[in-house]
Amino acid sequence: MGNRQNNIQPVGNEFLLPNEDFHQNRDLIQNEDHDSQLVPTATLKPSVHIRKESIKYDQGLSFIYDSFGEVTFNFYFFAIESVKSFGNTECYYIDLERHPNPVIHEAQGGLNHEFPNHLVNIDLTQYTLPDLSFADKKMYPLIIEIRPKENQRIIEVTYCKFKLEGVHYKVKVIKQKLTMDDKSYEINEIYGIRTGNEEECVVCLTNPKDTIVLPCRHHCLCLGCANIVRGQNNSKCPICRIAVESLLNIKIDRVS
Ligand SMILES: [Zn+2]
Ligand SMILES: [Zn+2]
Repeated sequence: MGNRQNNIQPVGNEFLLPNEDFHQNRDLIQNEDHDSQLVPTATLKPSVHIRKESIKYDQGLSFIYDSFGEVTFNFYFFAIESVKSFGNTECYYIDLERHPNPVIHEAQGGLNHEFPNHLVNIDLTQYTLPDLSFADKKMYPLIIEIRPKENQRIIEVTYCKFKLEGVHYKVKVIKQKLTMDDKSYEINEIYGIRTGNEEECVVCLTNPKDTIVLPCRHHCLCLGCANIVRGQNNSKCPICRIAVESLLNIKIDRVS
């Protein structure tokens, strides 16, 4: 059982692999077709991130974020997203007669910074459960944008819904998306990455694993074994036996 890392899955045919640890590389990958081929990486370093498991609603909204510098937050409530063909958000539609206005906050940078829960408040009891739970798959109950103040073209967007548990509302993240200049990526998770703790490839049990199987996202192979898998017909993931569509080689800067 490995820790989970974030992986950014793009709207087009690219893959971006960030790590929650900001000292690590985040790799952008071109994936040309669906043969099981190994794809090279280029490095991309987004400078803002909201930790999705930290988002809470308790009277107000709070969460933990990471940023190298000052940031701007935009909060949208009950917004419908309009997306350009290449995945970038063009705008949000909000019925402002029924729903709250967007809220903007500026905040300090830092790692592991807390956004305090007294700044953004919305009375969820006014809303129906279908509205809060994203039942129509169109109107996002809450969208949080974070962007570095010095570069507004980098935006991480977190799309949330609410779940009523007893008398409390729990925040559930629907998806996270990163936009850098003209490219948009969806953030997904990779299974089996352990930061700073090298583990062996599950095939040769010798070399450190550095390759992810797609679409299942198991991080389980070394480059050598990935090349063998790539050369086989009907190759399957050694962990879950799903057919391999492509292989993603990643580089992680280990932090001591
Ligand atoms: Zn191996
Ligand atoms: Zn697998």
